[in-house]
Amino acid sequence: MQLAPPSAPASSRLPKSATVDLLGADFPWRLVLENTIVGISYMQNRRFLWVNTRMAEIFGYSPDELDGELVRKLYVTQEDYDDVGRLMAGYPHDGFYTHERAMACKNGSLIWCRISGRLLRRKDISGPSVWVVQDLTDKKTAEDELRRLNQQLEHTIEKRTSNLRRTNETLHAEIERRRTLQATSAATGEKFRTLFRHLPLGVLVIDAEGAILEVNRTLQSYLGAQSRTRLEELLDDGSRVALPDGQTASLSSLLRRHAAERLGVERFEFAWIRAPGRLRHITAIGAPLATTRRGVVFTFADVTESRRQREREHEQQAALAHASRLSLMGQMASALAHELGQPLNACQSYLSGIRHRLNAEQLDLQELDQVLEKASTHLDQAAEIIRNVRGFVSRRKPLFESVSLVELIDRTLLLLRQPIRAVGVQIDVVSDPANDPFPDARCNAIEIQQVFTNLLINAVEAMDDAGTTDPRITIRLGADSRGMLTLDVSDNGPGVPEALIPRLCDPYVTTKPAGLGMGLMISRTIVESHGGSLRHISQRGAGATFRFALPAWRNP
Ligand code: ADP
Repeated sequence: MQLAPPSAPASSRLPKSATVDLLGADFPWRLVLENTIVGISYMQNRRFLWVNTRMAEIFGYSPDELDGELVRKLYVTQEDYDDVGRLMAGYPHDGFYTHERAMACKNGSLIWCRISGRLLRRKDISGPSVWVVQDLTDKKTAEDELRRLNQQLEHTIEKRTSNLRRTNETLHAEIERRRTLQATSAATGEKFRTLFRHLPLGVLVIDAEGAILEVNRTLQSYLGAQSRTRLEELLDDGSRVALPDGQTASLSSLLRRHAAERLGVERFEFAWIRAPGRLRHITAIGAPLATTRRGVVFTFADVTESRRQREREHEQQAALAHASRLSLMGQMASALAHELGQPLNACQSYLSGIRHRLNAEQLDLQELDQVLEKASTHLDQAAEIIRNVRGFVSRRKPLFESVSLVELIDRTLLLLRQPIRAVGVQIDVVSDPANDPFPDARCNAIEIQQVFTNLLINAVEAMDDAGTTDPRITIRLGADSRGMLTLDVSDNGPGVPEALIPRLCDPYVTTKPAGLGMGLMISRTIVESHGGSLRHISQRGAGATFRFALPAWRNP
């Protein structure tokens, strides 16, 4: 250290306090200044005149190394250096200046310092000044760390807050969703409950033991039960369900059987006896309960009205078919009279022959027996024709039975023998050898005979009207790919007029002056009511062919 100790300036600046006085002029100022924990320097014109050991140490210099150097050495940039120079020139606070900033060490590293300086002569910028430097690096590092931690904390808090906010929002949304769901579910539940109560179908839910779980009003009204207790009584009443064999049973036994047998979805029908003579026809479907609880759901539909309607339709159809048969008979009356006339005339001539012989007393008993035998045969023939006609025009309930179509053809040809003969039609009956013996059909014999008669008369009339030479009708028995029995009636007449084909089975379609145009329409209705079909399948220019198909009889 080459400079004089700062005793002179220090003493001139030190307050004239008692302490100073006490310390005395020989106090070891230099020693104290050298050993403080802050850096102290004495400067002029921004150049170090004296630097204490601590100051040199702070900046990584050896003692005395900074003496005489410009303070610029310790500034990181020229800009920093100029900045501080400018600030010092202003000296706003009584020639006192302090600042904190990063300063450069000898080895180029930076340290954070608080620097406080004071001009020893006020406003004399180029006069001496004293500077104290505190190494704030640790503090700064700690502060930075603290700030960083604070920031981290803030960031974490922010993140957590935002997470919390998001969770909160999600929670709110979930609560809202659940509330809506609950409301919807309650509404849906209510909707279903209302639907269940007012469904125009009866519904009954029973468990596996047959105990009622649910029942709706419609079923109560079907069964005529005002209350649940009454319903239970009625269900157990053994005289309420009319069985097809004429017996009665309780509805609960019917339902319990279904539940016990655990049938899948099963449909059944029964007649409910509401009061003596008052039946309700009910169709029911039972299905296993699709829940963890075992049981069955039964749905009931009152089909009394539709059944009555169906019966009325059947009756109407039968009446129409009957009327049409009567009309057919009317058309055939003269042919039948002729047909009956023949055996009756024969009988008459046999009888008059017998009388003649009796009068002449020429009759032996053996001859009489032979003649009576012949007369009886003719009468049988007449009786057969009458039976056939009677059967044809009778109005029996249309029952489905097992019918031999071969016999039905014979009977019909017998009935139509006269017109067939009159027009000179040759009839061939062909049956597929693969179907020998030909299976019986499931049908109502009279109605199917009516259809067949219609087709034969149409064929005979068409050929007669067209003057077909060598008129022929082929009746072919067979079976189609669906296993239905088929009966084709083909003729070699003029065929159905082209324009008529699309509406052939419509009512009132006729080309005959006295025709009604109902025959094919009624025939089709009859065949379809048997589950069969009637179609015109002619090839162009090859006469007319009509095919009707009927289900075969299957043993029940
Ligand atoms: P209708 O015999 O009273 O006319 P249908 O319904 O039985 O009533 O027959 C309708 C029409 O179909 C007949 O008028 C005729 O023109 C035509 N038709 C029916 N069968 C034949 C056939 N085998 N050949 C030619 N035309 C036919």
